[in-house]
Amino acid sequence: MKLTTNITKKILGAVAATADEEIACGKCYEQVEKFVELKLSGKSPEEAMPLVEEHLQRCEECREEYEVLLNALQELE
Ligand SMILES: [Zn+2]
Repeated sequence: MKLTTNITKKILGAVAATADEEIACGKCYEQVEKFVELKLSGKSPEEAMPLVEEHLQRCEECREEYEVLLNALQELE
């Protein structure tokens, strides 16, 4: 059972580390354009930029910004 405990600790540690790396709206705003570009080129920005993805999930303002940008760029294509 020692192994299981270690894995659990590792998982909890990873979650805590993610929380420490949370980005603010300003940082998200700087990167959201890149995020949209990746999205439009068929890549997975969620994987490439998990911190932005995480911020968009919990920040309504930035999510709106992201959706507006996404729609605007989609119409340009
Ligand atoms: Zn935000």
